[in-house]
Amino acid sequence: MSASSTLEISRCSSCHGRFLPRPGACPRCGSGDVTRHRVPAKGLVLAATELTAPARGWTAPHRLALVELAEGVRVLVLVEGPLPGHGAEVTVARDGDRYTARTPGGTTAGGRGEGESPVAGRFRPPFEPPR
Ligand SMILES: [Zn+2]
Repeated sequence: MSASSTLEISRCSSCHGRFLPRPGACPRCGSGDVTRHRVPAKGLVLAATELTAPARGWTAPHRLALVELAEGVRVLVLVEGPLPGHGAEVTVARDGDRYTARTPGGTTAGGRGEGESPVAGRFRPPFEPPR
């Protein structure tokens, strides 16, 4: 298994917590007995959303997904590609302090199989924004 197909997670020997690597002690119990392990860089999509008007500096549509990795570790990822459906398997990559998931077009495993945005072309703001 190459480094590019795995991700690091941390395991706490004291409370058996699992979490994304971070400096310092266990965020659950404060123990310093934390070790890092590599797990496959695959996860299942728990939820995904698309922002049509993201914050300044981000391009629209801005897609985010909550992904569960091995051992129940959850991570919020930036989605590159079509919005994945619930239960879709994605490959997660770490880029500095950011995690991304690439979704192949049209092959999402769950939810909307076509991988199209549920709001594209249909979203209407509830009011006219002030000018
Ligand atoms: Zn702990």
